[in-house]
Amino acid sequence: MLLNSYKITRTLPCLADPEKIRVIAEISDEIHEVFPYLNATLKGCIYNHPALTLTIKKDGKLFTLHAHHITLAKIEDEKEAEEILRWLRDLINETYEKRDHIEPNFSKGAELKALDIYKLLPGTSCKKCGELTCLAFAVKLVGQEIEITKCIPLFSEEYQEKRKVLFELLQAAGYDIPQMFLKNEEDLDVGVKGA
Ligand code: SF4
Repeated sequence: MLLNSYKITRTLPCLADPEKIRVIAEISDEIHEVFPYLNATLKGCIYNHPALTLTIKKDGKLFTLHAHHITLAKIEDEKEAEEILRWLRDLINETYEKRDHIEPNFSKGAELKALDIYKLLPGTSCKKCGELTCLAFAVKLVGQEIEITKCIPLFSEEYQEKRKVLFELLQAAGYDIPQMFLKNEEDLDVGVKGA
């Protein structure tokens, strides 16, 4: 068994849907060894091998696995979070047990979509980045034609939670976030603490 137990440690508002929650669970064991095997068997994962993160999309929800914790987004309540965590624990352990029969997949997988990025930007279309709209900025960001740091309003306290989730998604998809910005994110989950 690779993963023995988990514990929900934080429950936050979900940014994409205010009626739902975002849940962070600490886990008892390091699980990154199973990521390339999950990436090989599940469809639509985003795998970042250097950062040791795997994002799974299921029923419109996003589950991001890290070496030491799991983040769930667009969750109804803690009861649903517990069900998903149980499902993930079983999936992780079953996949790990079968790993000798699975060809590991180390590829990055699905790319981020501009709309996913757009939802996490301030959404004011203030033009400070030089683009006419936040959506235009999101399109350029996905194409790596502009840096996230050009969106100056995003770095204000008002957008702290959105920024954390956006950084998490960008890192999970293999995009670079300057270290100086990561250091300022106390509880940014990906690749900063624990990874
Ligand atoms: S600076 Fe940020 S908030 Fe302003 S238009 Fe650009 S992406 Fe949108």
